[in-house]
Amino acid sequence: MFDIPPKLIDKLARARRVAVLTGAGISAESGVPTFREARTGLWARYRPEDLATPEAFERDPKLVWDWYAWRRALVADAQPNPGHHALAEMQTRFEDFTLITQNVDGLHQRAGSRDVIELHGSLARIRCAREGTPVAVFPADESPPHCPCCGGPLRPDVVWFGEMLPIEALAAANDAAMACDVFLCAGTSAVVFPAADLPLIALRAGATVIDINPAETELAERVSFALHGPSGVVLPAMLAALDAVRAG
Ligand code: NAD
Repeated sequence: MFDIPPKLIDKLARARRVAVLTGAGISAESGVPTFREARTGLWARYRPEDLATPEAFERDPKLVWDWYAWRRALVADAQPNPGHHALAEMQTRFEDFTLITQNVDGLHQRAGSRDVIELHGSLARIRCAREGTPVAVFPADESPPHCPCCGGPLRPDVVWFGEMLPIEALAAANDAAMACDVFLCAGTSAVVFPAADLPLIALRAGATVIDINPAETELAERVSFALHGPSGVVLPAMLAALDAVRAG
């Protein structure tokens, strides 16, 4: 069991509003590769400019579509891990709880989290690359398939490098960061902006900011508490400690 500092639990137990930002690391223990880790991250094997930009899709739509289809299949085979489950449970412990994720894998929702703010879209959705229209059915036999309305190519509904984040999602995430008593970061290298700004916004607004990551991050130096461990171990320990303090 991971030791959670009593001062942290005290802050959490008193908190009315809690906001959480997750990144690829929270799904690592489900077998979903992260992006920037040197040995195992996706960007150690692939170049983002070949796969995760609008220009890449224009240049080679089949390559990009197939890469996302591979990731969609990988995620469909994965299961939420104890970190996802602890956050879904935690939602029921606070008056106001906002879960913001940079992940596109849908594992938070599968663990039972509600009203998840998806900053970078979702692998589960597709849309017309030309008109932006969402398309409900995944046509199976083309790569990429084409829009039933205009015939344009369909693309994953994720945010690529160089693209804007969905405005409403970002505004809701900023509001939560500004208003929370405790801001929890789990499994993010916190280098991709604007998501990486959220813990800093919370810090400036006076929140207790907690970072959970087995590795040393730039964020860890600035936060109130840095917990160096896997989120699938640390988050359940944090929930158990919170419940114990509240019960007793
Ligand atoms: P990242 O790969 O940059 O960082 C993952 C972090 O998780 C690392 O700091 C690592 O130490 C940590 N980690 C590893 N195992 C962990 C564990 N068990 N528990 C806790 N932490 C663990 O991923 P990120 O921070 O999410 O990157 C930012 C975002 O950028 C991504 O989530 C992604 O949405 C986005 N992005 C999108 C695309 C795209 O294809 N559209 C491309 C690149 C990045």
